[in-house]
Amino acid sequence: MTEQDSRALRVALVTGGAMGIGAAIAERLAMDGLHVLVADINLEAANVTAAKINASGGSAAALCMDVSDPEAIAQTFATIELDYGRCDVLINNAGIAKTYAFLDLPLDAWQKTLTTNLTSVLLCGQHAARLMLRHQWGRIVNISSVSGLRAGTGRTAYGTSKAAVIGLTRQMAIELAEHGITVNSVAPGPIDTPMTEALHSAETRLSFTNGMPMKRYGTPAEIAAAVSFLARPDASFITGHVVPVDGGFIAAGVLNI
Ligand code: NDP
Repeated sequence: MTEQDSRALRVALVTGGAMGIGAAIAERLAMDGLHVLVADINLEAANVTAAKINASGGSAAALCMDVSDPEAIAQTFATIELDYGRCDVLINNAGIAKTYAFLDLPLDAWQKTLTTNLTSVLLCGQHAARLMLRHQWGRIVNISSVSGLRAGTGRTAYGTSKAAVIGLTRQMAIELAEHGITVNSVAPGPIDTPMTEALHSAETRLSFTNGMPMKRYGTPAEIAAAVSFLARPDASFITGHVVPVDGGFIAAGVLNI
């Protein structure tokens, strides 16, 4: 098989790919020539995203997968193995966010957040990497958050889960490097998606934008561009890193003279 043929057949799985950042990543990877599996807990919405990609000349299929359910993850990867025999690119994007004051955070919310945002990255990463080993090639991008790099009020569970995703990214990167698999994380700043539409009050929006040199929320496409870069074949010497895509939020200190 030529390098060009092998690239034409590459399969990418995007978790939480039906909406928001995940949908933009799915669309972008399809534009890059990958066959994209749009995996989401919401199959109806995943079907819409996959159909949109196919209608615009890309190649995609929808899968129903709840990343908080280890059995569902195992079944999905068994199906992928049967149908495609490969998973070349994994984007661990699915995540949930709910805010609670530290003293009011219920144990079940903490556990649900860690299961969905963190344990899913471990399990999908293990399943995907086993398929990547066959070709000694792979790209894994874990979507974390600026909330994993800086603390935010109400984000005890969410911020901790995302900080751990960044730690897990490094662990995965060093053990998978010898197999031609790179593992990196993209840490979005605030992005306009259904999640932030539901979660961010006017005060939260102002608190974010006041601390950002660019003074605006980002778009899902701006996150997808960074993910696309890290998933490219020639991003072959970058591994174990976290890339904030955040309008300068992490860089910023005092912004007014
Ligand atoms: P959205 O909630 O807008 O979209 C997430 C998608 O994932 C939805 O389709 C959702 O389905 C799906 N999903 C939720 N739970 C599961 C699950 N258990 N299994 C499979 N799919 C699931 O989120 P965003 O696009 O805003 O966020 C995507 C990622 O980016 C998340 O990891 C988030 O933490 C991260 N992020 C987002 C930021 C932002 O400002 N938007 C900032 C920093 C990080 P349904 O809607 O039906 O639940």
